[in-house]
Amino acid sequence: MHNRSAALYVRLSDDRRETGDNVADQIEGARALADRLGLEVVRTYNDNDRPASAGSKPRPAFEQMLADAEAGLFEALVIRTTDRLYRTPADQLRVAETFGPRKMVIHQEWTGHPLDMRDPQGVLISGLMAQVSHYETEVKRKRQRAMNLAAAMRGEPRSGAIPFGYEQDRLTPHPARSAMVQEAYESLLGGASLASVIRDWNATDERAPRGGRWTYSTVRAVLLRPMNAGYVQYDGAILPGVTGRWKPLVSVEDYHAVSALLRDPSRVTAPRGQNRLLKHLLTNLASCGSCGSPMKPGAIKQTRGRLKGKSYPLYRCMNSECSARVSIRRDAANNEVEARFLNERGHLLAWREVVHVVDRGASLADVEARISGTLSQMGEDEADVAALSTRLSELKAERSALRAARPERTVETHGETAAYEWGEADVAGQRDLLRRHLGPGGIRVMRATRHNGNSVDTERILIDWADEPGYTHEFVPTEPISSGEVSQGTS
Ligand SMILES: [Zn+2]
Repeated sequence: MHNRSAALYVRLSDDRRETGDNVADQIEGARALADRLGLEVVRTYNDNDRPASAGSKPRPAFEQMLADAEAGLFEALVIRTTDRLYRTPADQLRVAETFGPRKMVIHQEWTGHPLDMRDPQGVLISGLMAQVSHYETEVKRKRQRAMNLAAAMRGEPRSGAIPFGYEQDRLTPHPARSAMVQEAYESLLGGASLASVIRDWNATDERAPRGGRWTYSTVRAVLLRPMNAGYVQYDGAILPGVTGRWKPLVSVEDYHAVSALLRDPSRVTAPRGQNRLLKHLLTNLASCGSCGSPMKPGAIKQTRGRLKGKSYPLYRCMNSECSARVSIRRDAANNEVEARFLNERGHLLAWREVVHVVDRGASLADVEARISGTLSQMGEDEADVAALSTRLSELKAERSALRAARPERTVETHGETAAYEWGEADVAGQRDLLRRHLGPGGIRVMRATRHNGNSVDTERILIDWADEPGYTHEFVPTEPISSGEVSQGTS
């Protein structure tokens, strides 16, 4: 007797950390259900670690499954729940259109009711499920944005790192630091160069927000903050009519005058640092989809057609062993990756890990001095040896606690959206931002199938986004910090 043939489709869910769900479980569960239903499993499709929500990376196994269903390679599909299969109405429609005419049935491990795609009710229910999944995803996305916007509309300071020039409350100007900012505005308006401001700032004890010396970009970033004039920003734009609750450092007029100066390309030239050597967004970040080699900039001349002789900038695989030597038009690839970054990650708040380094050096030296002081007191004639040895063991305990102290690490949101950071960054900064948001798969450029080698077919670009963007490290003060201060601003 002929057993109906079935395929399994499995995919990790977005909340697998909570459910403890994994692909092996899904396969096992689906196989058990297929056995109970007397189905013969002929194929398994696995989109490991790929979200099914809108705008996300392609799911190759899902595409293959639909193609195979169309080719009649199996008669039923076994899944855990429909939100493994689709989370958007568009994908649900594709499933319904493929399965319906072929009288295929979807069996779900977690609900007893098969979705019979021959039956209008089955199609309706599967459509409703897709709508619900899509709605949940969108609501999650919007809730975070709404909360950020509401806080901005109330003029609340951004969470995250303390803006340079302000106290811990983010509202009160820090006496010395706010004066530095104000003097910088005055100097620039008086005709001084940004380089002289950078020199002045480096002559103080104040360090740049991410530690170390002030640079062209860190000083410029502080001076270009609209918050200096009391403006409130959201999504990179100034919110009209909203005033920050913090005390502004400069007048609106001075702010605009200085930002016009700093944004004037004829006046300012960026220094040529080593991180500026890579001029193109995707050099070494994109890899050849055939051999995995990092792609390099290059150019190709059109050899035929209307544009014969015209040269195009490219990214290309330079591996001479590679069978495909994949290449792609550079401008088109840059634009596509930028668009997908802004679409996928733009709304996220930028993260960074802040490492509060407690300066143990000074405290240790102090304890050592007290230990040797106590030791010499014990040698004196009328020494209270009992009291002194108690003190000595206390000091020794303090010393070992200090030696064992680890730097405090906290993760803070930066207060800016990734879209804002992208807009403010130069190519080096955008490369850095992109790198932090890429998953292990990175950016792969697949070989062209339908067009010629330097095609602008941007569907060839596959991007694996990281579950959580990587952190940039920030080393904050060298003075000891109380645990109360450390935990501030992490909410
Ligand atoms: Zn290659």
